Amino acid sequence: MVYGIILTCESSVGERMQIIDVPSPNFDERPAGVVISLVVIHSISLPPGEFGNGRVIDFFCNRLPVNEHPFFREISGLKVSTHYFIDRQGVMIRFVAEEKRAWHAGVSRFAGRDNCNDFSLGIELEGDDFQPFANLQYESLNLLLKDIYHRHPQVNRDLVVGHADISPGRKTDPGPFFQWERVAK
Ligand SMILES: [Zn+2]
Repeated sequence: MVYGIILTCESSVGERMQIIDVPSPNFDERPAGVVISLVVIHSISLPPGEFGNGRVIDFFCNRLPVNEHPFFREISGLKVSTHYFIDRQGVMIRFVAEEKRAWHAGVSRFAGRDNCNDFSLGIELEGDDFQPFANLQYESLNLLLKDIYHRHPQVNRDLVVGHADISPGRKTDPGPFFQWERVAK
């Protein structure tokens, strides 16, 4: 699946990274003076359990074809986004610039602070609660995380959490198949 122009760049730690910019309209400003101090890992697939059809990209850009699937109609009114999305082939897509607030966490709390969107970066992996993630996804995720750790020195492995950790009871992603021990330190 080709989504757009692939930009090849060197990460802040000198590794080759490829990223596709697909701007989402779903973002706003972070509160003044806030420092990015959390990374939230999510998983998503649309329809649930189906991969590689580009519908996640459509969803984050408010252009989901609502007649294609009953679930699409259900979620079509939602305006959500993420900073990054990593598909099953490890292709990285950026929807929202890091300095802007993406709408990925919803009602959430981390270390006594509410509204994690204010101070976090969102990374969505194409996947669900029922099957393993692809090796290529871990490779891209770790390239990105090492770049993020370098550019945001206040973020370290301890500040990489799952959506389920900050929205317990409401969210389960990235789910039981996500291998936290593979996350870069
Ligand atoms: Zn999530």
